[in-house]
Amino acid sequence: MLHSVKELLDKGPIGKEVAVNGWVRSFRSNRFIALNDGSTIGNIQCVVDFEQFNESLLKQINTGAALNVSGVLVESQGKGQSVEIQVKKLVVLGEADAESYPIQPKKHSLEFLREKAHLRVRTNTFAAVMRVRSALSFAVHQYFQKNGFYYFHAPIITGSDAEGAGEMFRVTTLDEKNPPLTDNGEVNYKEDFFGKETNLTVSGQLEAEAYAMGLGKVYTFGPTFRAENSNTSRHLAEFWMIEPEMAFYDLDANMDLAEDFIKAVIAYVLENCTEDLQFLEKRLLDEEKSKPLAERSEMALLDKLRFIVDNDFKRVTYTEAIAILRNSKPNKKGKFQYRIDEWGADLQSEHERFLVEKHFKCPVILFDYPAKIKAFYMRLNEDEKTVRAMDVLFPGIGEIVGGSQREERLDVLLEKMKALNIDEKELWWYLDLRKFGTAVHSGFGLGFERLVQFATGMGNIRDVIPFPRTPQNAEF
Ligand code: ATP
Ligand code: MN
Repeated sequence: MLHSVKELLDKGPIGKEVAVNGWVRSFRSNRFIALNDGSTIGNIQCVVDFEQFNESLLKQINTGAALNVSGVLVESQGKGQSVEIQVKKLVVLGEADAESYPIQPKKHSLEFLREKAHLRVRTNTFAAVMRVRSALSFAVHQYFQKNGFYYFHAPIITGSDAEGAGEMFRVTTLDEKNPPLTDNGEVNYKEDFFGKETNLTVSGQLEAEAYAMGLGKVYTFGPTFRAENSNTSRHLAEFWMIEPEMAFYDLDANMDLAEDFIKAVIAYVLENCTEDLQFLEKRLLDEEKSKPLAERSEMALLDKLRFIVDNDFKRVTYTEAIAILRNSKPNKKGKFQYRIDEWGADLQSEHERFLVEKHFKCPVILFDYPAKIKAFYMRLNEDEKTVRAMDVLFPGIGEIVGGSQREERLDVLLEKMKALNIDEKELWWYLDLRKFGTAVHSGFGLGFERLVQFATGMGNIRDVIPFPRTPQNAEF
């Protein structure tokens, strides 16, 4: 009977005839094939009695080849595995040329594997990351579905450029060499496919707000696009964002949800991806051996994840955070690239990480930011200086969530838009939501890849999405 490697390793029928498909990870001593099919991190050892097979067949068993193996499942004699297959029949489904197959059974750098993005999932590291990614996605849906949220599909193509979250990618069918022009010589988008300028969305929030004001609680989970030319380990041009939006939630309820949600999905992978996480923990420890002591993490991966689940996030106002940063050692000694002098300064990743990793030593939710460094739709506080914004900051990552209570008062929203030169006409439908049954509401955006980075301990966001899109890179 055909089994997956996972089934064989978990509770395979000892003494019975079994069959399995997979790819050769290694072939030692013309005798031991380590076969993996992606179902689990472990390989099934297939023991070949080479006298029973002809040499030309054995020559085809190179690393990377696809095989169908059948034989009897027995308890293993050797160390390192509990069961193995005594091979009776071997079919080479697809050969892999030993000279040119790049994924050999040795250590490859993550940079090297990024250039082989189509094959890197055949390594333990990437297979483990992608299985955790899959489990996290499931956990996201499960959490919201269990808690009364509806899955809302935000449009990918957007006609409004007022989202303001970042630079956008244009969507057009106009002839690039010979576009139609207006009388004053500008490109005439009236003749474009949608009759106006359109872009790929940077956020589904504005549309989600419309749906929250009818369905109550909704969430998006889909691709978002930002043409930001920031080559960092935390930014992609195409990433997946989760954006819950809730009617009748104020900022406190919003923060409670963000914290509970993150804890729930991390707890899910702790429970369901134990082997992969153990592997990734070991990988991280190995990687960190080459770093100076000060840069190594204080906790191993699984402890770090358990710490998140078991501890409250620290909630701090922006104003308190600025006071802490201003008086901090790195600020006084000029160690920050951007010195914090005044209230109102935008926080950089170095400041966020100082607060989380050095000062509070736990996840932090910063809230009540200055209005002028946050988006127009965030609700103005009584002080008229700050808005009901919140960012969740994580160790090693910095900002993982950005959210707010939304401005539900039409007059305040209009004034804000005027001050920022945002055209009312463009957002007429968004303003309608404040005219017809407006209510307190809130939401946030969580970058899914940053969550996967945190859960897997991977340092670079390019290594937690199958085919990363970054500046100058869309090969696959
Ligand atoms: P940052 O300051 O880190 O660039 P942001 O403030 O621009 O992020 P938001 O607009 O608040 O981000 O988006 C919500 C969340 O989406 C962020 O908290 C982050 O987790 C994620 N995110 C934003 N931009 C990117 C990106 N380019 N690649 C991956 N994730 C991103
Ligand atoms: Mn943000």
